[in-house]
Amino acid sequence: MTDQIVGHYAQRKSLRQLLASERLPHSMLFVGNAGIGKKLVALELAQMLFCEDNNRAEIGGCGECSKCKLFESGSIADLYQIDCLDKEAANVAQIRQLLQTVNLKAFHGGARVTVLDNAEHLSVQSSNILLKTLEEPRGDSYFILIVENPAKLPDTILSRCQRWFFSPLSNDQIRDVIDRKNLLPEGVSIQDVITLLDGSLQGVSSIVDKLDRFSNFKDRVNKILAGDKLNALEFAKELSSDRESLRESLHLMRMIVRERVLNETDPKNRRSAASLQAHLLELDALIFERNINAQYLLQSRLLNDL
Ligand SMILES: [Zn+2]
Repeated sequence: MTDQIVGHYAQRKSLRQLLASERLPHSMLFVGNAGIGKKLVALELAQMLFCEDNNRAEIGGCGECSKCKLFESGSIADLYQIDCLDKEAANVAQIRQLLQTVNLKAFHGGARVTVLDNAEHLSVQSSNILLKTLEEPRGDSYFILIVENPAKLPDTILSRCQRWFFSPLSNDQIRDVIDRKNLLPEGVSIQDVITLLDGSLQGVSSIVDKLDRFSNFKDRVNKILAGDKLNALEFAKELSSDRESLRESLHLMRMIVRERVLNETDPKNRRSAASLQAHLLELDALIFERNINAQYLLQSRLLNDL
């Protein structure tokens, strides 16, 4: 667990110290942007609470006791996790049942930890049930609520929880994770990805996909503008066969062609790019509003510009 977390060292260290001095609050609120590792920190804290030798490591559990082994294999019974965005898992009946279970004696003896991810999405009714439990905490039971926007939680819940703030990741930290996990396909600019990620690791795979598509499209558009007719026909066929993403594909092409029009210095090339741009602008309406055959339209428009 611990080696998966990037940064947040000060918070983790303070949580560890509070635990060691038996001053850890029973209800905590972890606040910060999505995709920066709040949940990983919550799970690290849970492991420390379960660990039988939690004074050994500076941060995290000892990794060797029977509880740490159970935790790391994902089979510790006294850890409850709910993603409140999952309406099915976080419905009133489920929350009520969860809290009843938490109020029973711990399965393994010792702590019970409940992690509620995206807690601001709990329904009002579920929040009220949760509030009752937070108001009467049992000695060995801990609640960690994870939120992006605490203002969306009822004040009654907020006032019961100690707040912990987590900062966005730095560009260097993000670069480090991307490098370590080898997330980027060849040819994709890591700087572009870092800029788009904006301090969070959420959505890294979809951004990588998008960039991958972007560079493929750029390559195709350049070939078409250079007079490659076969490529134009093939590209038209490919695009029209995937009707679901056709609108997004056309949008991507317009972005690429617009950039080309703006940056092209040769007047003849700029004219053909501008003409393609005009055709692409019409295509949306023709395909989606007038329902004219997409492959036929794309082929004629892409070839027209050669
Ligand atoms: Zn341990």
